[in-house]
Amino acid sequence: RRGSLLASLGATLGTIDRGFAGFDPPASRRDLKWDLAQAGWIRGYLVHIDDASRRDLVAHWLGELDRRIAPALARCRRSLIYNDANDNNLVVRGEGASATVAGVIDFGDICQSHVVCEPAIAAAYAAMGLPDPIAGIARLLAGFHAEFPLTAAELELVHALVCLRLAVSVTNSAYQRAVEPDNPYLTVSERPAWELLERLSAVPPRRALYAFRAACGLPAHPDSPRAVAWLERHRSELAPVVLPDLSAGLDRVPLLYSDWSAASTELGSPAEREDVAAWTERLFARIRSAGAVAAIGGYDEARPVYASAAYRHRGNERDEWRTVHLGLDLFLPAGTQVFAPLDGVVHSFADNAAPFDYGPCIVLEHRVEDEGGALCFYTLYGHLSRESLAGLAAGAVVRRGERFATLGDFTVNGNWPPHLHLQLVLDMLDGHGDFIGSCRPSERPLWLSLCPDPNLVARIPARLFPPARPGASALLAERRELLGGNLALSYREPLEIVRGFGAWLWDADGQRYLDAYNNVPHVGHSHPRVVRAVAEQLAVLNTNTRYLHEKILRYARRLTAKLPSPLRVCYFTASGSEANELALRLARAHTGQRDMVVMAGAYHGHTSSLIDLSPYKHDGPGGAGAPDWVHVSPLPDTYRGEFRAGDPGDPGDPSDPSDPGDLPKGDLGGRYAGRVAEVIAAAHERGRRIAGYLAETLPSVGGQIVPPAGFFAAVYAEVRAAGGLCIADEVQTGFGRTGDTFWAFERYGVTPDIVVLGKPIANGYPMGAVITTAEVARSFANGMEFFSTFGGSTAACAAALATLDVVEEEGLQAHAAEVGRYLLRRLATLAERHRWIGDVRGAGLFVGVELVRDRATREPAGAEAVEVANRMRELGVLIGTDGPHGNVLKIRPPLCFKTADADLLLAALDGALAEAAPA
Ligand code: PMP
Repeated sequence: RRGSLLASLGATLGTIDRGFAGFDPPASRRDLKWDLAQAGWIRGYLVHIDDASRRDLVAHWLGELDRRIAPALARCRRSLIYNDANDNNLVVRGEGASATVAGVIDFGDICQSHVVCEPAIAAAYAAMGLPDPIAGIARLLAGFHAEFPLTAAELELVHALVCLRLAVSVTNSAYQRAVEPDNPYLTVSERPAWELLERLSAVPPRRALYAFRAACGLPAHPDSPRAVAWLERHRSELAPVVLPDLSAGLDRVPLLYSDWSAASTELGSPAEREDVAAWTERLFARIRSAGAVAAIGGYDEARPVYASAAYRHRGNERDEWRTVHLGLDLFLPAGTQVFAPLDGVVHSFADNAAPFDYGPCIVLEHRVEDEGGALCFYTLYGHLSRESLAGLAAGAVVRRGERFATLGDFTVNGNWPPHLHLQLVLDMLDGHGDFIGSCRPSERPLWLSLCPDPNLVARIPARLFPPARPGASALLAERRELLGGNLALSYREPLEIVRGFGAWLWDADGQRYLDAYNNVPHVGHSHPRVVRAVAEQLAVLNTNTRYLHEKILRYARRLTAKLPSPLRVCYFTASGSEANELALRLARAHTGQRDMVVMAGAYHGHTSSLIDLSPYKHDGPGGAGAPDWVHVSPLPDTYRGEFRAGDPGDPGDPSDPSDPGDLPKGDLGGRYAGRVAEVIAAAHERGRRIAGYLAETLPSVGGQIVPPAGFFAAVYAEVRAAGGLCIADEVQTGFGRTGDTFWAFERYGVTPDIVVLGKPIANGYPMGAVITTAEVARSFANGMEFFSTFGGSTAACAAALATLDVVEEEGLQAHAAEVGRYLLRRLATLAERHRWIGDVRGAGLFVGVELVRDRATREPAGAEAVEVANRMRELGVLIGTDGPHGNVLKIRPPLCFKTADADLLLAALDGALAEAAPA
């Protein structure tokens, strides 16, 4: 039931009907009970509907048929139509996001009828069971309209015709059940048809019409362009809404633009907004210091602040937050007087007390004339003082320039600083003082038409407002022009991420995503402690290691205290690549050899040498294979590799008493280590000696692999016996991520000669580190100076210190262990229900879920994994895919990820797997 599938259904029908146009075979003119124009026949069958209220509902639509539908239909186009696009008659090609309607079957109901009946009948079936049937019907109509344009008069009938078709369907089912109680086919759609009929009947018809018009590219409200033109023409005649008159010009009335968009740098964190009094004080201090009289908050601005459940909308494909502001905010002191911009009458009041709602609010109705005749629109004023409204009653006349209310303070303001919310509305949709003040991004065309820019009334000079945002497609085009073509973007529909906090990210539309992918913001996005440390340091000094500074030493001492005792000497760099590059130089300097042994599928960085050392790259697209100095050993993958868990020789899981393994004949770790020994021996045979062995302790791009117990102990022994150094790339796995130990190599009871760190080390501030023994460091200090301009900069050290502080003080290693165990356990449960899950593995918050098409053959399900990750992005959870076959779901969130976050991830994964890879 994806929008794209519904649109393709509409397009298919539009194509058919376009082809039918002008084709009028005599046989197609017939009496047919499924011709919607002839729906009146059900009148005689209402008696078969047992439930009285349901019978009344059908009778209501029959009344509508006579009163409104039939006369209007008579003025609409007639044509031959297919007339039966129910689910059982559709041929669908492809699955998931790529599913489209390829054609239809069963032409038994073809007849001469009205064109608009075609999409209406299809919609009556396609919208069944949808969380948001209006949005689903709108997508279908848009598809139809693109192929065979519908007229405004036809669109006006759609809502009623869909309901009428459902009325025919349920009446027919009731009758059939009476006649043939044992034929289930005749009543298959009865229950969902009733449900949909009841839901659609409750939607104000004009609300549905606006959605349908917007979907077809028409102004949602037909009068919208006229109202905008009228207000533009009468601009100079409008009275100021507040004094001083904000339209007087910025030199005379200085105003401050207050950015509340998702990308805003002034909005602060959710925690900072909790204390409304303090927030108010901050905002008004800014207004004062800017010498302004007021601050302005924007119309059509997507805001991350609408976070309560009332703003969440269940959509057909994904849920959405109502983030797009439909009003204009004027931040002014409580008590500021509010004046009517033009004559009107009081339409309604409301006291909308919910958080982030309008507070006490009033709506004025304005009736004006233009060449087209009468025109009606409303102005809505939110966050007023309750007392100031006391004297007004609905119907009261309010004159242009009349003071009719004053602004309330933050106690009546739905949790934000005092301001006037000014909104223009063309149709109150039968509401009284209650109207949405923000809409879902996907419904922008509808609501921006229904609620035009309130600045038509406030008339603030345009140059105060920021330029329109470029939008994702413009960014994409610019990126293609300005950035290298092989710079990868995640997801089929790329995300424009503009904000982060903790384990959450926000896009430019203010929609939020649970981040289960990014491991660089180790202690959480924009952690206040790290932000403060960096900002304070940048404000004082950020320079390099050529001067004495205690911070780098404090950090080196803290870091080495976390490492086994021989690892005492630090080098700081600006990236993980630079750190691995340096580690290579150390190993070569110490051993006098050049060659290295690495693991298949590994990635260590993007420099020339590291591409040579990264089979993930040099064996991948565009790669030239391993050079002669690089010796590749197999990935110790106990699920897909040469030696597998469950094979004779499996040591079992030491932490799981129920899995004693199959000791003692040569363990899995030993067997894979044996392969490394063979690689070294083969190098020796060719007369080559090795400088060292470089491996990630838990290979990440290799597929979130956890090598078997005993592996590294045996490998390190072999490497050292061959004269090489052991280098642990802990760029992905360091700093407590793997839960049980602070460094992943500690799981294996080994001590590397060199440890390489990066990514999470400074929570996103660029930094890498190499830590080695005094002996290796001595070999490297051969007279050639070592200097990395940005490596170990003062600000980087401040960030790294703060990151380490947070890891320790918030107990994030233990937290990762606990949440990771929970996640792995629940993923294992999920695997019982989804046959596509071949393996679940990981340690702490370093987790992989390997998808296979067949558990016996372990055929990798790469395309399905990509589908699942894309679907999860739509569902608001970010994960990645990796592994040599791209079939491993990569889960490695910031360590502040909570058990409740894991539940959100699991629910999304459950849903995505059910859709992308049905059981
Ligand atoms: N080593 C590993 C294991 C990595 O995952 C990465 C980055 N993905 C690097 C090294 C390189 O780090 P950087 O991108 O900071 O150069």
